[in-house]
Amino acid sequence: MKVDYDAVVVGGGPAGAHTAMAVSKFSGGNLRVLLIDRNTREEFGKKTKRGWACGDAVSKRSLDHVMNKLDIRYDRPEIEHHVDGVLVISPDHETEVLFDGEGYLLNRKLWPQRMLHYLESLGVEVKFGVDARSLIAENGFVRGVRCTTSDGKPFEVRAKVVVDASGSASVLRANLPIESKMEREIDKEQDMEGTGRYILEFDRVLEDHTWFDPKFCIIHLDQFLAPGGYCWTFPKGESKVNIGLGVQKAALDRRNEAHGLKDNLSSLIDQYLKANRAIVNPRAPEGYGDLGNSYSIWQVPVRRQNDCLVANGFVVIGDAAWMPRPIDAGGIGPALYASVILGRVLVEALESNDTSESGLWSYNVNYVHEYGYQMASFEVLRRYLQTLPNDDISFGMKHFLSQDDIESIKRREHPKFPLLTNFLRVLMDGELRRRVRERPKLARSLSYVANKSRRLISLYLDYPESPGGFEGWRRRLHKELREANERLGIS
Ligand SMILES: Cc1cc2nc3c(=O)[nH]c(=O)nc-3n(C[C@H](O)[C@H](O)[C@H](O)COP(=O)(O)OP(=O)(O)OC[C@H]3O[C@@H](n4cnc5c(N)ncnc54)[C@H](O)[C@@H]3O)c2cc1C
Repeated sequence: MKVDYDAVVVGGGPAGAHTAMAVSKFSGGNLRVLLIDRNTREEFGKKTKRGWACGDAVSKRSLDHVMNKLDIRYDRPEIEHHVDGVLVISPDHETEVLFDGEGYLLNRKLWPQRMLHYLESLGVEVKFGVDARSLIAENGFVRGVRCTTSDGKPFEVRAKVVVDASGSASVLRANLPIESKMEREIDKEQDMEGTGRYILEFDRVLEDHTWFDPKFCIIHLDQFLAPGGYCWTFPKGESKVNIGLGVQKAALDRRNEAHGLKDNLSSLIDQYLKANRAIVNPRAPEGYGDLGNSYSIWQVPVRRQNDCLVANGFVVIGDAAWMPRPIDAGGIGPALYASVILGRVLVEALESNDTSESGLWSYNVNYVHEYGYQMASFEVLRRYLQTLPNDDISFGMKHFLSQDDIESIKRREHPKFPLLTNFLRVLMDGELRRRVRERPKLARSLSYVANKSRRLISLYLDYPESPGGFEGWRRRLHKELREANERLGIS
């Protein structure tokens, strides 16, 4: 087989860029790695024509992880702001839950320029203005990519392995031309969130920490303003904000029908901005880092990651692999953890000259064990929460969420709702018993979700060590998910 490269990575977002860095770094520069991105050098990593759509928030833990493993440093100006945690506010504004834990607000336009610096210094070849159109397949293996240049000239790149990091609208995974265990599509109505945001400067004249706080990312839960999603106000400075929301299409359709409205994502974002009392005289920032990126909308997958991330000569990562966390759509952290894992697996597979499904299988196993094992349980929780009216969400946050749950969520673990799952506790605590009687269905369903999450996590910890066990495992997974959907009344 004639190859031009050992690995070709499609997409210069956080997933693709860090995977390419990791392969180069872990192989000591001995492997030929090409990264292609459809943007120009100046606009590297841009998601859509409208910009680098993102809430820009990442945990310190995730960024530290990738910096330590790849021996790179991110600082100003790509890190714009530091926060101490996230404040989640109930629909009735009566309950505030503080999840402390340091994080950063990135500048997604400038961050890729810093990534580019590291890519090039690690010896990765980067081609700009190249659109990957389809995969080349031979004898049941992916062998490369068919591309076009920005002026429409077609060409082919051949490699031992192709990494699809082209984001949530991947055409490569969707049209995978070989037999494989990888899923090609998700249910877009249920599992894709339409999201959008402004980056704005404003006059800080009204102090109300429930609407803007330079120390905390604020999440407003509101099924009317963000049906099936949530609204966010993330500080990017003392008087600068990333403000936006996400919606689930099915929930938005239901909400519009119920209220005789015709809202869409853009009109809802504008309504949320208007509702935010602390954002006075908002305007687009004029600095280079925000030019062309003040308003942007795009989609985020909020499902568990692809049940199988590998095929012969092919792997998926980041949004192309549906890695964002189902509960909050955070996709940067999982992409960074996955890049380090995938980098190691690719080096091993390429050095042993085995880029078959089974040669790449440990990427599945290692990702599931390190990060992905909880995502199906979050998918069930997210799907359930999306069905709840504002009233139930406010009630649940006030009466059923315990300090233990808050600690679990801070550790990015599934809440166990001990107030509801401990039968004796409900029996002994008169006040809790009264609350459970007030909303028996809510209490029963949350308790069911907590138990289901335990089963799903233990199923994932039993992810097959080799392709042979996969079909049986997948059947068990789908059975668990089907049961949860039926029981919780999710269509
Ligand atoms: C509005 C919004 C808010 C969000 N907020 C947050 C947040 O606050 N925190 C968080 O962690 N996550 C957030 N996310 C999710 C996060 O932005 C993504 O998970 C993350 O960017 C995924 O990185 P990626 O590298 O997989 O894909 P992307 O960042 O989408 O990068 C893909 C790259 O591939 C290029 N490309 C695509 N197709 C091709 C092709 N055919 N050929 C060549 N190049 C191609 C694209 O132009 C782009 O450069 C948000 C997403 C949205 C839309």
